[in-house]
Amino acid sequence: MRSLNKILVTGGAGYIGSITTHELINAGYDVIVFDNLYQGHVEAVHPKAVFVQGDLADTAAVKALFEAHDGIDGIMHFASYTLVGESMEKPLMYLRDNLVNAANLLEAAVAHGVTRFILSSTANLFDVPPDREFGVIDEQFPINPGSPYGESKFFIERMLHWFHRIYGLKYACLRYFNACGGLPDRGEDHYPETHLIPLVLQVALGQRPHVTIFGDDYPTRDGTCVRDYIHVVDLAHAHILALEALDRLQVRHYNLGNGTGYTVREVIETARQVTGHPIPAVVGPRRPGDPAVLVASSEAIRRELGWTPQYPDLKEIIRSAWDWHRTHPHGYGTR
Ligand code: UDP
Repeated sequence: MRSLNKILVTGGAGYIGSITTHELINAGYDVIVFDNLYQGHVEAVHPKAVFVQGDLADTAAVKALFEAHDGIDGIMHFASYTLVGESMEKPLMYLRDNLVNAANLLEAAVAHGVTRFILSSTANLFDVPPDREFGVIDEQFPINPGSPYGESKFFIERMLHWFHRIYGLKYACLRYFNACGGLPDRGEDHYPETHLIPLVLQVALGQRPHVTIFGDDYPTRDGTCVRDYIHVVDLAHAHILALEALDRLQVRHYNLGNGTGYTVREVIETARQVTGHPIPAVVGPRRPGDPAVLVASSEAIRRELGWTPQYPDLKEIIRSAWDWHRTHPHGYGTR
């Protein structure tokens, strides 16, 4: 029997957390999901996971969680506020709450002898001026968070650094680029929706008249922003690989993307091909804070853990997202 069995997933009712839970359970793990359902959906929690509804801000609830579930072998921490734009309007929700919630979790984890921790981190650690030309972003790229959201994740990365030095906690920080795609019965359901692919697919569903392209005067091949779209299942597998390698690795930071960038126009065109819908697009102003190009180098995790994206093709990614949205036009239908 392997030494790793019982995994706590915070935010396991959310988009990436629920799909990672699904993949963990497929891989034979026992999973406990802790989620306050602020953004998550109870329907997204895998039926084989133990679900505990609770808030990381509530230290008594966090303590009770660890007391009720002895012997947690590892934690995957997804639960947090996640919107860049919102963090520019409500910075303390991010700079304080994301941090305090992670501190509450870490305090209880260490007190209960948990030794492995995977953080859901972000490419928003790498802010770049909108018109600067540069190559792919690897782990050596200078950290300069682009928002209070990105800064809050960086704070947590630093907290983990000290928990490693002081308590020996082994950890990996996974900095995702643009997570997208879905499984047949689990996918993106955010309210309000702000991400490009679900918005485009909502147009195809007739729920929006058009999609707005945020700026077409960037120094890119068609003037629209380039992003690195990575399938959520590939992200989930990276979490599991990192967790299983932590005893050997101790501490790692990995950038996670396909290493290929697509423009906003290319995403819309691909969605037209997948859905057969004309998907009208209108050009609007730039969205403040959007860099022209964000593409990951994931060489480190490929080399060290043998991670290989199974869905590198944008069409396949959008098809999987479309399968989810088409069959769940109102998401989990709980709002
Ligand atoms: N975008 C857009 N219209 C929208 C939403 C997004 O043109 O309605 C663009 C956005 O400017 C960015 C890309 O699509 O270049 C991906 O944005 P998203 O919000 O999905 O992810 P982000 O890159 O902000 O993490």
